[in-house]
Amino acid sequence: MADELPFKKTMQFAYGEPRELAEGVVRIVANNPSPFTYKGSNTYVVGTGNELAVIDPGPADDAHIEAILRYVGTRKVSHVLITHTHRDHTDGMPALLAATGARTAGYGRRIERRGTKGTSPSGSEFVDKDFVPDVPLVDGDVLEGDGWSLTALFTPGHAPDHLCFALGDKGVLFSGDHVMGWNTSVVAPPEGNMGDYIRALDKLQGRPDKVFMPGHGGRVEEPARLVKAFLLHRRMREQAILDCIRNGKNRVRDIVPVIYKDLDPRLVNAASLSVLAHVEHLTERGLLQPTAEPLSADLPLSPF
Ligand SMILES: [Zn+2]
Repeated sequence: MADELPFKKTMQFAYGEPRELAEGVVRIVANNPSPFTYKGSNTYVVGTGNELAVIDPGPADDAHIEAILRYVGTRKVSHVLITHTHRDHTDGMPALLAATGARTAGYGRRIERRGTKGTSPSGSEFVDKDFVPDVPLVDGDVLEGDGWSLTALFTPGHAPDHLCFALGDKGVLFSGDHVMGWNTSVVAPPEGNMGDYIRALDKLQGRPDKVFMPGHGGRVEEPARLVKAFLLHRRMREQAILDCIRNGKNRVRDIVPVIYKDLDPRLVNAASLSVLAHVEHLTERGLLQPTAEPLSADLPLSPF
């Protein structure tokens, strides 16, 4: 297929070691690598003054939280921002809050119907449904601290509560799991929604960002190029799914091996859910016939 994506798999880091990526932006990588988290979850510490912001505490890993606190030193953490409430980004929060007394900021879980245990593409519970931010943020809200400001950009799709954060006018966007350089985002219903995801990608087009700092993996240079490639990739994937269905491969479990070659067996579930996400989006737009039953991997699909 001609939808080769310009992935960048290299990443210079050492677990627990703060690395300055831009003025006032330091990344610390947690040691929780997996097919879903790549090398691990990225925590960013923002600011050059005495009061810092932390974006995504990462997992509940003592060594990781200690590494964040060591870097912070005698300075204060005024805010802990959350890109989205998946546990690989939020589980370290209680320990970090206990040590810093920071206030939390994020969108929060406002959509109850999504994100149950059974829907995890990794097969385990991964949504922190109890997170209620001290400072709720919606699209366009600006959070200001000691010499820094972060503007929230509502970007649902991977998660219903996903925010990206733009750093002042520095051209830096903390893109969370919405746009990453090492792989495509997992969009797995009912937690994920393909229509939302594509609209939220579209929203990034035309922005002046120079670099994205994602939730996993290295910096994304030329982010506009990657966003465009992801949009094209999704259009091609959608077409490939429609072609499968028209050619009689009309069950998700038959479609997955056609469009995902050499799939890591640990990712079959995520791939199936991703196909379902496309099917939902095609159905919403009247390109597939709605089915009477809830969508599943075994249900036959028919085109209009
Ligand atoms: Zn993540």
